[in-house]
Amino acid sequence: MQPKPNLNLYSFLGHLPWLKKSYTAKIMVVAFLGTHVPLLTLMVWFLTSNAYSVETSIRVLLIALLATLVGTGATLYTLRHLLVPVILTSEALQNYLDTRTLPNLPTEFTDEVGTLMANSSQTLYKLDELIHYITHYDELTGLPNRDLFCDHLNQTRSQNHSPLVAVLVLGIDDFTGMRHALEPEICDLLIRAVSQRVVQCMDGSDVLARLGDGELAIARSELPSLESVVKLSQLLQSTLAKPFSINGNQIHITASLGITLNHLENTNSVEKLLQQADLALHQAKHQGRSHYQFYSPEMNVQLQERLALENSLRGALERNELLVYYQPLIDLHGGRVTATEALVRWQHSTEGLVSPVKFIPIAEANGEIVPIGEWILRTACAQNRRWQLAGLPALRISVNLSARQFEQTNLVEMVRQILAQTELEAAYLELEVTESALMTDIERSVTTLTQLRELGVSLALDDFGTGYCSLNYLQRFPVNMLKIDRSFVKDVLSNPNSATITDAIIALAKSLGLTITAEGIETKEQLDYLQARGCDEGQGFYFSRPANADTITKLLKDSLQSDAASIALATHF
Ligand code: C2E
Ligand code: MG
Ligand code: MG
Repeated sequence: MQPKPNLNLYSFLGHLPWLKKSYTAKIMVVAFLGTHVPLLTLMVWFLTSNAYSVETSIRVLLIALLATLVGTGATLYTLRHLLVPVILTSEALQNYLDTRTLPNLPTEFTDEVGTLMANSSQTLYKLDELIHYITHYDELTGLPNRDLFCDHLNQTRSQNHSPLVAVLVLGIDDFTGMRHALEPEICDLLIRAVSQRVVQCMDGSDVLARLGDGELAIARSELPSLESVVKLSQLLQSTLAKPFSINGNQIHITASLGITLNHLENTNSVEKLLQQADLALHQAKHQGRSHYQFYSPEMNVQLQERLALENSLRGALERNELLVYYQPLIDLHGGRVTATEALVRWQHSTEGLVSPVKFIPIAEANGEIVPIGEWILRTACAQNRRWQLAGLPALRISVNLSARQFEQTNLVEMVRQILAQTELEAAYLELEVTESALMTDIERSVTTLTQLRELGVSLALDDFGTGYCSLNYLQRFPVNMLKIDRSFVKDVLSNPNSATITDAIIALAKSLGLTITAEGIETKEQLDYLQARGCDEGQGFYFSRPANADTITKLLKDSLQSDAASIALATHF
């Protein structure tokens, strides 16, 4: 054990008001008193002895006083100089704390105070490096962060006035879904592996940074031509498309890119370029997976349009501008209508009928989907009950739930109340959710789905195949039905990949005992293909486009009158 340092004298001197603030003053006082000991001893000796005359005593004392003063002066002067290293170290530390200026302390001395200077200096340099690293680099990948990325580009600008720069923002597709599907450590390792592969695609002068969870930014400033940027984007996408092997798991990902090619002009423009690339990335993701998109000024216009739409969506429900269309689902074995899907429309005062693809994401983002979704559910259940009361065959009504709605803690209670209010039996309601909505919080999703099933409601996984649902989770979700996404059905006859996926989804649904519905059937050939594969239900323009309640009522009545109980619209059947 180390002996306890004795700070008594130091602390005692600190209590004296005129010594409190200055270490130098403390040393000076001690030195002053110390150098006066011989003089005081001499004085006491002269006062207590009668051996010398008063005159001799005064003379000796005066000489001693003079000698003491000269000695004290010399001692204090020298000590002051010896204290300089301590004062310098203290000032250097203070300076770093105040202004983050790094010290310039000598390092050649090897005694205690020399080591104090050298070590303080080294500690500050190391600390500064660490602070710089923490504030400028991403901890997980070791890549620069957004700030350093901007700094680098600003430096490029200072060396070359207004250079042409390509900024690419790369986003891993459906990263949120993946985050939830994979274990956190595996996800982190994957992000690291992704950034390493991206590094391999870089040229010496490219700047790379990690912006967020699944997003990287790349800047190329040396002669970026449209062609070279397209090549880089394709290289990045193909490099990342190769499977990753992480802790024994084979993981496949795709990436989309937003690109802007522009001049770096004013101080804000690095941020502006990033914003443009980000906007382009949004557009790319809108087109599906694995796309790249260049920024164009029209995107800003689209953003303005979106803002305008967002504004006018506020209050649309109260102004009775929303209406529900219905699209029949047909039993592919017998040709009867088994259900209708409720699909919302917005009758905009100037824009006409607005597609849900345009306004649902807006309502989802600003939370308005919650009251809107509740209204759709109530309207659809009430309509289904009306059809039953009109003597039409009892059908399921299928209602889409958005992710935000699915997260509502009162969802199950809300559904129960609407069923009670509209007097619809739970068996005639089907709720459609997407894989990504379920992946946000798997445990909670399982609980909510189970509670909905307990109410007696059926559950369908919508747009199946486009999300990121591992088989493992699929087995845990108590759903009744999978709906094959329209994108696969669309080119099931022309694209062998789509056909393989469609076949696999049908086989999967069958092995899990789930009903399988195909969305977006438009042609007889598609229908034949799906029937041959044993698909249970179908929905699409081939049978009927979504239409208002009156049109669908007529259609259902017509179908009742037809001999085979199959609907008139399905005469092609
Ligand atoms: P979804 O739930 O997958 O609905 C199917 C979409 O495919 C509908 O588009 C439907 O009109 C369209 N469709 C059906 N058959 C065909 C076909 O043969 N060919 C083509 N090209 N399209 C077909 P819609 O009505 O525009 O809705 C788009 C999406 O908007 C829906 O996809 C759903 O995700 C969302 N949505 C619609 N209504 C609601 C709603 O009430 N609530 C929520 N949360 N989302 C809704
Ligand atoms: Mg749907
Ligand atoms: Mg769908």
